Amino acid sequence: MRRHSPSIPVVPEPASVRCPTCGRVVACEPERRPESFPFCEPRCRLRDLGAWFDGRHAIPGKPGEDGDDA
Ligand SMILES: [Zn+2]
Repeated sequence: MRRHSPSIPVVPEPASVRCPTCGRVVACEPERRPESFPFCEPRCRLRDLGAWFDGRHAIPGKPGEDGDDA
């Protein structure tokens, strides 16, 4: 009698992800995911873009504004 080795790597694929904007669960199966994936809806995608324009996604590390003595 031989038995299957129990060391089969079982990696459960995430059935869903979180919307980066509002944190709502978004299905990621090809037939279920929204057009706005990974955002739950186009509005959230726009909001994320808006955040960029708004400066809320500020890049850490300011350009040296006080070092222009040259
Ligand atoms: Zn969302």
